[in-house]
Amino acid sequence: MALVVQKYGGSSVSDAESIKRVAKRIAEAKRAGNDVVVVVSAMGDTTDELIDLAQQVSPLPPQREMDILLTAGERISMSLLAMAITNLGVRAKSFTGQQAGLITDAVHGKARIVDVVPHRIRETIEKGQVAIVAGFQGVTESTNDVTTLGRGGSDTTAVALAAGLDADVCEIYTDVDGVFTADPRIVPSARKIDRITYEEMLEMAASGAKVLALRCVEYGRRYGVPIHVRSSFSGKEGTFVSADAYTAQDPAPTPGTRSADIPEETAMEAPIISGVAHDRSEAKITVVGVPDVPGTAARIFEVVAGSGVNIDMIVQNVSAARTGLTDISFSLPEGDGPAAMAALSALQAEVGFDSLQFDDQIGKLSLVGAGMKSHPGVSAKLFGALRDAGINIEMISTSEIRISVVTREDSLDDAVRAVHTAFELDAAEGEAVVYAGTGR
Ligand code: ASP
Ligand code: MG
Repeated sequence: MALVVQKYGGSSVSDAESIKRVAKRIAEAKRAGNDVVVVVSAMGDTTDELIDLAQQVSPLPPQREMDILLTAGERISMSLLAMAITNLGVRAKSFTGQQAGLITDAVHGKARIVDVVPHRIRETIEKGQVAIVAGFQGVTESTNDVTTLGRGGSDTTAVALAAGLDADVCEIYTDVDGVFTADPRIVPSARKIDRITYEEMLEMAASGAKVLALRCVEYGRRYGVPIHVRSSFSGKEGTFVSADAYTAQDPAPTPGTRSADIPEETAMEAPIISGVAHDRSEAKITVVGVPDVPGTAARIFEVVAGSGVNIDMIVQNVSAARTGLTDISFSLPEGDGPAAMAALSALQAEVGFDSLQFDDQIGKLSLVGAGMKSHPGVSAKLFGALRDAGINIEMISTSEIRISVVTREDSLDDAVRAVHTAFELDAAEGEAVVYAGTGR
């Protein structure tokens, strides 16, 4: 008998019919002899709609109230799901994040889980019942206030509960068949990835892949929770995320095995490239005409950091010999643009730069793969593919297993398709299925 944590995303529970369909799946898992804990997201685009509503009544809603509002979305779906499961003759009970023992820090809107004390969930399992937990929320111990974990946070709830309950697997059910080599909404020929390591998945999620929330992957890696990303609309096996990309079907060779005895399939090196991720949510600030003397970059980025803004890529040009001036560009989340621009404007007199430019029409493409560490020519091939597609590169940054480039936002989709093809990631046949969801 296994303990399974299943998480269902908003598009899997978007209306009464889908809730009944998901309830059936859960009842089947329970009847098959498993202990089942379910984490559920808000129905469809509920969270976005609640945010829209809040903005209609106040330009700057208090964050505490915002969190109470948003947690309502998950409470609707959790109770409806518990009703639907009970109706199938399987006992189920729903719990808010607070009731489930998800303790967070006090940062409204992006709280971090500091502890998981799932007493009531354990009790429920022991009674042979299915526990349904509202995703993406918790409670701050100091004030007893309700918090949310940030967009997409139900994935993190699921993995945290799986770790806290020592579950055998955390299944993330979504509207596609797993993690793909690119977003199937942009690249229909994208291929499903069978296995991927936490490291690669972290880079994909950090680079904009929305299929799993970044913090869920971080959490999974820290506690070694095996994650299985799959569709709630099909019975297909999805993508396994784990430390070594081995699975039960394809296990790691036992230590001491001679390499000649390892089946060829398993002995093959991991593919060089796992996939292409993209991100439209960033903007770029350029500080024009910065005096090229020691300390200016330090001042600029001290001030940006002081305004609470997390930056991504940085590019500094060689200074023009004649003027001794240079330009510094960096990318940041679009929403942090106003704060960073205001902070930098206040610095203009002190540092003596010419002007500031803000550009929110950028897109970022990232190529991720553990194999690129040991393979020359990956960057050259990437840049060549963009050249052939007539796409200009504005910024470049790399890590050991990732290369990212910034392009114009309106050429990003073409860039993703061109790079996906250049690295021979396209499926031999068939199109990736997107079962539901508005992609919002
Ligand atoms: N409902 C929240 C959101 O849309 C949390 C989640 O779906 O994971 O971001
Ligand atoms: Mg969602």
